[in-house]
Amino acid sequence: MTAKAAFSIIIPMHNEEPVIEETYRRLKKVMGIADLSYELIFVNDGSTDRSAEIIMDYGYWDDTVKLVELSRNFGHQIAITAGMDYAQGNAVIIIDADLQDPPELILEMIAKWQEGFEVVYAKRVKRSGETWFKKGSASLFYRILRASTDISMVDTGDFRLMDRKVVNELRKLPENNRFVHGLVSWVGFRQYAIEYEREERFAGETQYPLKRMLKLSMDGIASFSYKLLKLSGYAGMLLSGLGFVFLLYVLFLAIFTTETIKGWASLISIMLLFNGFVLLMLGVLGEYVGRIYDETKGRPLYIVSNTLGMDPHDLSHRP
Ligand code: UDP
Ligand code: MG
Repeated sequence: MTAKAAFSIIIPMHNEEPVIEETYRRLKKVMGIADLSYELIFVNDGSTDRSAEIIMDYGYWDDTVKLVELSRNFGHQIAITAGMDYAQGNAVIIIDADLQDPPELILEMIAKWQEGFEVVYAKRVKRSGETWFKKGSASLFYRILRASTDISMVDTGDFRLMDRKVVNELRKLPENNRFVHGLVSWVGFRQYAIEYEREERFAGETQYPLKRMLKLSMDGIASFSYKLLKLSGYAGMLLSGLGFVFLLYVLFLAIFTTETIKGWASLISIMLLFNGFVLLMLGVLGEYVGRIYDETKGRPLYIVSNTLGMDPHDLSHRP
């Protein structure tokens, strides 16, 4: 095995067969310009197409190409994490496989890193080819996240460069339901934002359907704040206060007047409202309890089924 590469580029891929060759070509071109030592770590996150085979073929004659194959689909955030465990570089760059993040920006990131920034992330100022729903939901998500947590997070994807120091700190965080972007903000260090226009997917389809986006949002919010839990406390106080006032009023009517309050409809609607709220809050509680459960099981984050180009004697990555 050759000497340690200075830069590790992590490319998570899940069924990216239509784009992966172009991605490889563009990355090679960019890194060729930079004339620095690097490794391309493709993480195959349970693809059911030929993505991994294509990379294997490249790896056969190109020893900058490395591959980590997960035993099944573990999800984007875990795939990135696996890549970081295997990365050897002094700086680690994470980039999507679908060319929505322009590889050319890596050069700018490296320049900023050389100036001394430990995290250089790419902030998307415009996102072409994405639905208003996706953009709207993303911006709403970051707004809620900022309001409910103490760490500042901007609307960026996972396209970023991180110094070795940052990666080492991230690797110490064992949490299961990972929101890597939040973790990077959490560890701190000197961060710099490069603005760019996010492009359309080069080919293929988004691997983030609504269900996955909701899961990621919940991970983001629930693993960085418990304000949602407190919400039920505040709402409970408010509602029981109101209930108490209403009770006094009803008692007053019953004792001092001949009137009584009628109304089946009002009773039912109040019951529906309150029971609904209680169930909602039980659901929130369940989110957190489920997360505690996930952590106590202590399962590994991912299972690797195969690697290519990795030093088998190097045990620095997680077992
Ligand atoms: N991805 C992955 N595992 C998954 C889903 C996605 O490794 O379970 C990868 C995917 O191949 C791509 C990146 O994560 O490189 C971002 O996914 P995608 O482009 O589908 O998300 P979007 O850009 O639509 O948010
Ligand atoms: Mg994409």
